[in-house]
Amino acid sequence: MKKILSLIIMLSFLSLPSCEEGGADVYTASCIAMDTSCTVTVYGKNAENAADKCTELLLNMEAELSVTLSGSLLCALNTYGSADGGEYLARVAEKAIELKELTNGAYEPCIYSLVKLWGFTGDSYSVPSEDEIAAAVELVRSSSLSVSDGVVYRDGALVDFGGIAKGYAAEVLADSLWDAGVEAAVISLGGNIKTLGTKPDGTPWNIGISAPSGGGKLLGVLEVGECAVVTSGSYIRNFTVDGKLYHHIIDPSDGYPTDNGLVSVTVVCDSADLADGLATAFFVLGREKATELATKLGAETVFVTSDCIYVSDGLKEKFTPDETARGEYDIIYG
Ligand code: AMP
Ligand code: MG
Repeated sequence: MKKILSLIIMLSFLSLPSCEEGGADVYTASCIAMDTSCTVTVYGKNAENAADKCTELLLNMEAELSVTLSGSLLCALNTYGSADGGEYLARVAEKAIELKELTNGAYEPCIYSLVKLWGFTGDSYSVPSEDEIAAAVELVRSSSLSVSDGVVYRDGALVDFGGIAKGYAAEVLADSLWDAGVEAAVISLGGNIKTLGTKPDGTPWNIGISAPSGGGKLLGVLEVGECAVVTSGSYIRNFTVDGKLYHHIIDPSDGYPTDNGLVSVTVVCDSADLADGLATAFFVLGREKATELATKLGAETVFVTSDCIYVSDGLKEKFTPDETARGEYDIIYG
């Protein structure tokens, strides 16, 4: 099964030939990995090799960090309680532990027992009973994750790095591109964007923020320099029962999908792993607490509810709302 899956992933690589943009060579490598479509666009010399190396790295990271791919190191951690020998698992675990502390537990690495209970690992979603949720919340609350001498240990609930792995992967790819001498690139891993350097034509990078309604529509565009832009949204994975929407970002304190009015959170800061973890945690914390923490950490944000788009001060000059969004949402700055 694993072989077939790897083959499908390999076949799904789509590399676009080098062409010219703004006077520089540009090359895009694409693949499906980490449960999402990934593209790496590289400008300048050596673009093709550097971008293709990124798709190879993505596959390696998926093989290690996937919570569903049997044989991954994360599955070993969940099955046996400890795991070592990988290249990425211990680093991701350390980052996840830091994030849990930073967000006062809103980001919870030992969340998989709850995520699984709601069925957000496959296609059979269901609303668990109150007792099942209460038992899983207690298990998660009393769980621990630790790293010692490169070995990752867990006790209690199962671990899931879905809220941070793509951001972490974007940073690994960025390091690989820097090492290859790349001076300008965009990494896009399903809602996790990392830009490197400056576009060869000197204009800012334009990063779209998806509309919750989907269909490729945008709420607006952010003009940014070198940074990470990461979005978490309740529209990405969800199901509806009796008219109520249940989505994949779970509040560890009560075991339910967060229900605080937010439909998407975008975080802009230097590093993609931090932005990824914060976007998930901010979703759980709600806009007020999240804004406090973002200000403390120097991260910029865009919060979206059903009728408002809240743009933080630092993005005021950088965010251009889409024409349709202007009609559908109040846009609030500051
Ligand atoms: P993201 O799209 O980065 O917000 O990640 C969402 C994924 O993170 C979910 O599909 C779960 O696998 C996982 N997750 C859900 N709730 C939490 C939470 N409170 N803390 C950490 N990870 C979570
Ligand atoms: Mg995240």
